[in-house]
Amino acid sequence: MKKYTAPVIMLAVFEALAVILWLTKDNIFYLFNFSYIGCSIALGIFLYIREHRHARRVVQLLVGLYMLIYLGLINRENMQIEGFWYYLFSGVFEAATIHYAAAKIFGPVLFGRGWCGYACWTAMVLDFLPYKVPAQPRKRLEWIRYITFSLSFVFVAALFFAHVGNLEEIMFRAFIIGNVLYYAVGIVLAFAFKDNRAFCKYLCPVTVFLKPASYFALLRVKCDKEKCVSCGKCRKVCPMDVDVTDNSRKRENGTECILCMECVKNCPKGAL
Ligand code: SF4
Ligand code: SF4
Ligand code: SF4
Repeated sequence: MKKYTAPVIMLAVFEALAVILWLTKDNIFYLFNFSYIGCSIALGIFLYIREHRHARRVVQLLVGLYMLIYLGLINRENMQIEGFWYYLFSGVFEAATIHYAAAKIFGPVLFGRGWCGYACWTAMVLDFLPYKVPAQPRKRLEWIRYITFSLSFVFVAALFFAHVGNLEEIMFRAFIIGNVLYYAVGIVLAFAFKDNRAFCKYLCPVTVFLKPASYFALLRVKCDKEKCVSCGKCRKVCPMDVDVTDNSRKRENGTECILCMECVKNCPKGAL
């Protein structure tokens, strides 16, 4: 039973968050929302422990589809980065601001870029494409993410300063158009660079939030140097080009790790 401690702890953490937000915000939606996400993640960890091949993909689909379809399209909450700026400018700690605080700004200190491996609805689709492991060397195009990040900020700031009316409707449309664009550009980049995660590496504005906090992540893959035979298999199967054999915080592409565990699963010596 001891091996199931991790999913139980994860479920407990999300339940605690669900109850705290339900009571402090006096809104039962938070109880449902965080309980659902916690159950999905706990199920994924349980499946991983049982060595289920698709454990990560199960969580990704459960959480990603819920956020995209239920929260985004049915509840009309813009959970993209524009939605975060929108709520921030409005001075409201709701929906996208809570989501960003938990999953993308403070959460990564605990679980790194787990969001990118297990919940993001953009990557949920990109991960179906054929280039699960990059077939080309990494490009030096990371700077583009700062442009997309700035554009998202300027877009929402301009709407506020221009006192544009009906912002809720604009945000909903921005969510739909933004997602269509993300998917289209993400798919084109994946085929152009032969890398499913090219969009994540070069364009995604959210990484500007994710990367600094994940540098300090408590949950990270570490290498047992005594067992490692430097075969390089872990690097070959890594979708994010992380040098996971280096245990230092400054490991190459360390803040890119999405905790997909492909390196762990493929290490012939059980060193990770
Ligand atoms: S980098 Fe961006 S698109 Fe990729 S998984 Fe993370 S949040 Fe999603
Ligand atoms: S796959 Fe395992 S043994 Fe091979 S280099 Fe990586 S950590 Fe070392
Ligand atoms: S293969 Fe390992 S190092 Fe690479 S992203 Fe997945 S968990 Fe991180």
